[in-house]
Amino acid sequence: MSVLRSGKWSRGNGQMVKRFEEKFAQLTGSRHCLAVANGTSALLCSLSALGVGAGDEVILPPYTFVATLNVILARQALPVFVDSNRETFQMDAGKLEAAITPRTAAIVLVHMAGSAADLDATLAVARKYKIPVIEDACQAHLGEWKKRKLGTYGDTGCFSFQASKNLNSGEGGAILTQQEDLFHRCSLFHNNSRGMHRQDDSFTYAAPGLNLRMTEFQAALLVAQMTRLEEQSRTRESNASYLSSLLETIPGIYPARLHSGCTRSAYHLYMFRYAAERFQGLTRAKFLKALAAEGVPASGGYTPLNKEPVIAAALKTRGYERIYPAAGLRQWQQRNQCPENDKLCQEAVWLTQTMLLGSRADMDKIAAAVGKIQKHAAALL
Ligand SMILES: *Cc1c(COP(=O)(O)O)cnc(C)c1O
Repeated sequence: MSVLRSGKWSRGNGQMVKRFEEKFAQLTGSRHCLAVANGTSALLCSLSALGVGAGDEVILPPYTFVATLNVILARQALPVFVDSNRETFQMDAGKLEAAITPRTAAIVLVHMAGSAADLDATLAVARKYKIPVIEDACQAHLGEWKKRKLGTYGDTGCFSFQASKNLNSGEGGAILTQQEDLFHRCSLFHNNSRGMHRQDDSFTYAAPGLNLRMTEFQAALLVAQMTRLEEQSRTRESNASYLSSLLETIPGIYPARLHSGCTRSAYHLYMFRYAAERFQGLTRAKFLKALAAEGVPASGGYTPLNKEPVIAAALKTRGYERIYPAAGLRQWQQRNQCPENDKLCQEAVWLTQTMLLGSRADMDKIAAAVGKIQKHAAALL
C-alpha cells in the first residue's frame, strides 16, 4: 500500500526494488543481486551479458522447465542436452565433457526441485574448458552446496519468484553474480542498455538491451514474503526427510537422492521414482489416479524436453538454417540422445512444495496412501 500511495511504481524513482536486491543479496551471501521481471528474464539476461548468441552451443539438462530451453532458442543458440542421473534427477556431470565442442559457449546448470546438481564436477569441467556456468536456481531458493547458497557458484545464478515458487510475488526474478563487470553488463541489458544511475539525460547506447525490470509492487511483496522464507524452508526440509523415511520402506518407491555436497535442498518439489513392477504392473497413470482418489494430488512431471517439437521447429527456421551448417544440424539429431532421462520421465512422481508446508500427520497420510495402493494394486489394474 505504501508503494501504491507513493505514486512511485517503477525502480526509476522508487526505493523498493533496491531494498529487495540488498536483502536478497544478504540472504544468499552474494556480492551482487539484480532484480528482474521473472526467471526467464534472469536467464536471458545472463546469456546475453555473457555474449552467448547465434552460432553458439549451450549445454543444459533435459529434465527442466521449458524456460531453460526457450532462452537458448531466443538467443538463436543451439541447445545441447546432457542426460540425467535417474537417482538424483539432476544432470549427469559424468556425461558433460563428451558434450563439449569448440562452439560450446555456456552451461546452464539446473538445480532441479531445489536440490543441488553436482556443482564440483560441473565446475571442474567448465574451468578446464573456460566455459561460463549459469546456475538455473529458479527452484532453489536457500538451497545449498557445501553450506554455500545455490546461485552463488556460477558466473550468474538465476531465480524465479513466479506464483508456484517457494518465494512468490506472482511474477519476478533475480540474478546473482560475484563479478562486478558482469553485474554491470546484466544491469545495462535489463534496462534497455541504459545505466541506472546516470546523471545526464543523454540517449546513447553501447550495447543491446531490453526492458526486463521488476516493478516496485513485486519488490514490496518479496520483501514481505522473504521474512518467512527461512521458517517455511525448514518446515519443507523436515517434512521431506520424514516423508522419505516413510516412503523408503515401501518397495518400488525411490525418493530422489541428494548429492553428498547438497547440504540443503529447497524442496520446490518432492520427487520420487515409481516402479510399476513392484505394484503388480499398475501403470503410473493409474497410480496417480489412485493417489488422487486418496486425497493426495500428484503429477508425473516433465516430458523429455530434448524431444519436444519446439526444437525441431526452431532448427527449421531461416535463421538457424543460415547460421548452422546442414551437416551440423543433422549431427545434432544423432547427438540428442538421453536414454536415462527418457526412463526417468516415465517413472517420476511429484508432490508440490506447498504440500510440504503441511503437518507431520499429513506426511503420514501421504505414505499411508501409497502403502494402501500397493496393497490393493491388483484390484486397480
Ligand atoms: C520457473 C522456472 C523458470 C522460469 O521462471 P519464470 O519466472 O516462470 O520465468 C526457469 N527455470 C526453471 C527450472 C524453473 O523452474
